[in-house]
Amino acid sequence: MKIYKFGETTLGLPLHAFEWKTEPQNPHVLILGGVHGDEPEGVVCARGLLQNFIENFDFKLNLTLIPEFNPEGVLLKTRGNSNKVDLNRNLPTKDWSPVAATVRYYPGPAAMSEKENQALVEFIKTEQPDVIYSLHSWKPMLNTNGLLPEAEVISKMTGYVIEPDIGYPTPGSLGTYAGLEKNIPTLTYEIERDIPFDQILRIHVPAILAGLKISEGRKK
Ligand SMILES: [Zn+2]
Repeated sequence: MKIYKFGETTLGLPLHAFEWKTEPQNPHVLILGGVHGDEPEGVVCARGLLQNFIENFDFKLNLTLIPEFNPEGVLLKTRGNSNKVDLNRNLPTKDWSPVAATVRYYPGPAAMSEKENQALVEFIKTEQPDVIYSLHSWKPMLNTNGLLPEAEVISKMTGYVIEPDIGYPTPGSLGTYAGLEKNIPTLTYEIERDIPFDQILRIHVPAILAGLKISEGRKK
């Protein structure tokens, strides 16, 4: 396992990535936690996964895990980063718009204005992940962009519904950018908000581990 600086924030905080490399022909999975700083459930889940991988990594996958993609937001307990930008509305999608639905969803002054997303776009370009899991919290659901048999296994284990469409447009989101525009299947995993952390470790970490077993079968 390698730990490296994936990128940094406006204030200079490092984004840490944990990387497991196996055979180059194995699929590459990217897992993000903490995109929204006021959704600790996703960070807890990412840290639970990290603990599992450190103990025993036996997946036929190349895997990159970033437990806190938005460390400023996590520390400030805000959805956005220190610039108050919603990183999941700031990616350079075709439909990106400077107009925010509400102040919570401030997409920034320009698409990809934020350093976190500059690092993410660069990573997607150079590493070309085969599937992306992004861990959030809201209403319990598995929001899929692209074909995701992983979601079916996770749904069976959690009872969470699979929603191929979240119900409203999300310009600048990772699901739209990677899932719809780059054809990288993307699972936006919405853990139920405010459930106890131990429940996340008991239910959602094993569900994602089962999903990753399915990801092993993806073609490079
Ligand atoms: Zn979120």
